[in-house]
Amino acid sequence: MKILKFGGTSVGSASSIQTLLQILKAEHSQGNRPVVVLSAMGGVTNLLVEMAENAAAGREFTAQLAELEKRHFDVVKALLDIQNQNPAFTRLKIHFNQLEELLQGVLTLRELTPKTRDQILSYGERCSTLMVSKIAAQHFPEALFVDASELIKTDSAFGQAKVNTELTELLIQSFYRENSDKLLFVTGYIAGNDAGQITTLGRGGSDYTAAIFGSALNAEEIQIWTDVNGMMTADPRMVQKAFPLEELSYTEAMELSYFGAKVIYPPTMIPAFLKKIPIVIKNTFEPEFAGTVIRHDCKSSNLPIKGISSINNISILNLQGSGMVGKSGFSGRLFSLLAREQINIILITQSSSEHSITFAVQPHDVEKAKQVIELEFELELLANKLEPLVIESNQAILAIVGENMKQTPGMSGKLFHALGRNGVNVRAIAQGSSEYNISVIISANELSKAINAVHDAFFINLTKTLHAFCLGTGNIGKTLFNQLNAHKDYLQKNNGIQVKVVGISNTRKMVFNIDGLSLDTWQDELQESMHEADLSAFISKMKDMNLPNCVFIDNTASPKPIAFYEEVFKSNISVVTCNKIGNSAAYSQYETFRDTARKHGVDFFYETNVGAGLPIIRTLKDLMNSGDRVKRIEAILSGTISFIFNHFKGEANFHDVVKEAQEKGYTEPDPRDDLSGKDFMRKILILARDAGYHMEEADVKIKSVLPKACLEAATVEDFYASLKAENAFFDDLKQQAEAGKKVLRYIGKLEDGQASITLHMVDENHPFYMLSGSDNIISFTTDRYKERPLVVKGPGAGAEVTAAGVFADLINVGAN
Ligand code: ADP
Ligand code: ASP
Ligand code: MG
Repeated sequence: MKILKFGGTSVGSASSIQTLLQILKAEHSQGNRPVVVLSAMGGVTNLLVEMAENAAAGREFTAQLAELEKRHFDVVKALLDIQNQNPAFTRLKIHFNQLEELLQGVLTLRELTPKTRDQILSYGERCSTLMVSKIAAQHFPEALFVDASELIKTDSAFGQAKVNTELTELLIQSFYRENSDKLLFVTGYIAGNDAGQITTLGRGGSDYTAAIFGSALNAEEIQIWTDVNGMMTADPRMVQKAFPLEELSYTEAMELSYFGAKVIYPPTMIPAFLKKIPIVIKNTFEPEFAGTVIRHDCKSSNLPIKGISSINNISILNLQGSGMVGKSGFSGRLFSLLAREQINIILITQSSSEHSITFAVQPHDVEKAKQVIELEFELELLANKLEPLVIESNQAILAIVGENMKQTPGMSGKLFHALGRNGVNVRAIAQGSSEYNISVIISANELSKAINAVHDAFFINLTKTLHAFCLGTGNIGKTLFNQLNAHKDYLQKNNGIQVKVVGISNTRKMVFNIDGLSLDTWQDELQESMHEADLSAFISKMKDMNLPNCVFIDNTASPKPIAFYEEVFKSNISVVTCNKIGNSAAYSQYETFRDTARKHGVDFFYETNVGAGLPIIRTLKDLMNSGDRVKRIEAILSGTISFIFNHFKGEANFHDVVKEAQEKGYTEPDPRDDLSGKDFMRKILILARDAGYHMEEADVKIKSVLPKACLEAATVEDFYASLKAENAFFDDLKQQAEAGKKVLRYIGKLEDGQASITLHMVDENHPFYMLSGSDNIISFTTDRYKERPLVVKGPGAGAEVTAAGVFADLINVGAN
């Protein structure tokens, strides 16, 4: 025999009740006659709570009562044959009238006792079960409505009554024997005390009703039918990537539900555990899906943890002082006091020095806890042996749960790393002595970010989501979006990485979408956005969205975003940029960026500052990190100048070559920005700093390629004219080189802490002799690479390779 419990959504509408009937028919056709336990229609218990509270406060409740009637009557009309409708309406109407009378009483007295409250709430299950049993009777004539308040006997702790198991089991067994030919439809959640008054088993308690029946009748299985595919790795409303678990032990299910996994009510596990009855959680709306089995001999799993639960909105109380040190019985006194007052303590931590005790309670218990503690410890407080109680509200608990934690070291490290990286401050930690769970208290407004980050960290075989905020939609920005779009499936499949671009801004507009902007239509969305570009507002929005694994991408060449980098790091957001200005301004700023990023556990990647997508910065860092020391760096890092000198030979004149370079899009609008060596200087400076030299811009000696007259020309046109005028100077250079079988190369050099950029003539023995097109080349001579330097060479300019470098940096964020 099985118990089938259907929750609020499963009885919440005519169509879901039809699905429920299909499930029962399938059981029936296999010769099974289950006991069916039902919840109130979805949302009805909350509605009843509201009505009761309105009445107690002297407010109207008639509109809600009408809504309640309508919801039930609509289902009756939809699912009962005409001739059966009237008797059902009459029975339901009797309930609604009784309910109204009760509420009137509360309204008159302005008083809502726990006893009356339970009685009011009981109408949810009584009405739904009555209604469904009538509908079911059209298919199963043996259907019988059962009011569980006559069978489940409890004490009088209204709202959360404790079951008298022995008596209850006898009553259920004898009732079942007497009705062995019936198909029972039992009200969930409600019970009764010795005096025949209605009690309830705690919110969500219909699951518990099912387990109580299951235990009394030695059921082979207890099925909990709900609206999700089983117990999931996290609350699916908070974590999109949560997935259903195949199997769990009773303890794991208990811990997960205790810490907030609402899908099953924690006490449900106890009767099932004692009798070793499996609990199966299944989805009414996807009945073929196997769901989750909670069982005794659950097979071992390779998941490091089973799931992550959370309780939002709790308060923490902290008691500390010298009066606690070494005082045996102090915590006993505190906790028995709270137990006596029926204050439920969700979590406790005590420092090893016994100097402080922190515990978490529901917000509605705070005032009472404060009062009783201050009274109990009045003397200690007066004598300053205890400091005044500190209360903090708006906190949340996040717990990771799983039996495997016991065998696997490093679980807490992983948890704290994920939280730390995302700037989530942990207020208190508790690990159950069973080591089945580790719980932390964090600020409630960090919960969503925290739970997603922790989920990503533990279920590594799943996709990790990076949330990108991108500045700049020029060539590089645009190309990056195209590359991300083209590679998204590959990334997901091969690297388990999903990149969501959640914010984009250029100098005109900005646009946001927490679910990720479409990389096909972002241009239209940006164009149509109502938000005018505002860098400071962009940064604020990025901080407010408080997303896990967040990356700020600066694809501009503007100094403006740089001013925000520090703030971004402080918000635990990584920065990826091709913008060189930040790293090549004052050394103090260069240092601050690194220190701040490190302190906040985030990444600062700027591979494309030097040589576009070529792995230059990474190579240098790897050398340094592995203990090597740079002796000399020689490099050609200006694609533009390379192009020019590679074409300035034979008949060509310098003016025409520069012009050609400009026409081909290799130069800045004013080619002197390249030819002056300023851009090259920035790259050498960044390399020198990354190689460990404390250097400023003025320390890089630049010998310009251009004679003074060209540099000083007023306009670009004048500049070209001056190139013509200086033709002899350039020709002379060319002839000298050619006569010596050499080529002209504009080379940056760092040696013994001296940096320079100078025009050289190199012969065929020089490694830079063969450089072609607009390629970059860099050679590192180090302690390890001293005979033959380590050389990196390749295309060092262009939107495609630069965007690819930014892309690679982005993917590396959070990799270690
Ligand atoms: P019912 O009315 O069927 O009893 P509940 O609303 O009580 O349903 O519980 C099901 C809901 O629990 C799901 O819709 C889901 O949003 C929520 N939930 C929270 N944590 C989890 C979890 N870890 N796994 C599955 N569901 C969860
Ligand atoms: N209807 C009750 C509640 O909403 C019990 C249940 O659904 O399990 O809490
Ligand atoms: Mg429930």
